[in-house]
Amino acid sequence: MDTGFRERLIAEGILFQTGVDGVWGRSGVFERIHDGIEQAITRAGLDQQAEVMRFPPAMAQAVFEKSGYMKNFPQLAGTVHCFCGDERAHRTLLGQIERGEDWLQDQQPADLVLTPAACYPVYPIVAKRGVLADDGHVVDVASYCFRHEPSLEPTRFQMFRMREYVRIGTAEQVIAFRETWMERGQAFVAALELPFELEVANDPFFGRGGKLMAEAQRAQALKFELLIPVNDGLEATACLSFNYHMTYFADTWGIKTADGEQAQTACVGFGMERLVLALMRHHGFDIAAWPAGVRDTLELG
Ligand code: AMP
Ligand code: ZN
Repeated sequence: MDTGFRERLIAEGILFQTGVDGVWGRSGVFERIHDGIEQAITRAGLDQQAEVMRFPPAMAQAVFEKSGYMKNFPQLAGTVHCFCGDERAHRTLLGQIERGEDWLQDQQPADLVLTPAACYPVYPIVAKRGVLADDGHVVDVASYCFRHEPSLEPTRFQMFRMREYVRIGTAEQVIAFRETWMERGQAFVAALELPFELEVANDPFFGRGGKLMAEAQRAQALKFELLIPVNDGLEATACLSFNYHMTYFADTWGIKTADGEQAQTACVGFGMERLVLALMRHHGFDIAAWPAGVRDTLELG
């Protein structure tokens, strides 16, 4: 793989290497762009009257299990474990580390799993409130997400920030929402003066059974991705996703519409780091030299 873009990001001090592929430190310039994108997404969604929810990068193990993530994506999940021993166990632990032995086997589960997608913690919270209002609900959610997919591609992070709008309501409301955001997503990226394509996509379902799941997802056009060329010599990168879950999460959590019907859900997800890198790829590393329209859209001053 041609890693020229990655090398330049490191040489320019935009990304800091941490010793693990896909886990990066980011510079002030990177974060300025990130913050500009965050605010532009907020402006694009102002009319949604969305309820804002922000989550830490880990979620309850029980919620994660019930969400069915391990059925579909066991290869991507990360769990949190901790030391829970006494002083003797502590001495053993230190000895193991000193001798370069495996010390992780004695760690205990912390009832926490790293959040794989920003919208997962939203559904049980909305479900707990009971039947939806007539016009359903929209949530503006953001979280750090974890996916165990170490890679040399600078656009494939193991820990990254995802911003989403999540629609919960009737089939009509949810389908209309996804249509709206597919339009808005394209307008958003066009305003950033980035080239893009919108394509039917599938999630990376695990194993042989997963192939069938992926085919079914494509056949029903349940997932679209907005792709932007970012990496040297590689396929374009998914920077926004538009997901229609039908009744999957509403069934799982028991969410009903005002009429007592099973609700449906959809979400639009923005990959924050990928958008920053796409901007740098196409407009360069010097924000001051970016096109005026892009600087205005991101309010970079
Ligand atoms: P998904 O749930 O896979 O549709 O992810 C939503 C969005 O998060 C995608 O459109 C990407 O922009 C972003 N994303 C997914 N995986 C990664 C990753 N490994 N690194 C960085 N961004 C990602
Ligand atoms: Zn989502």
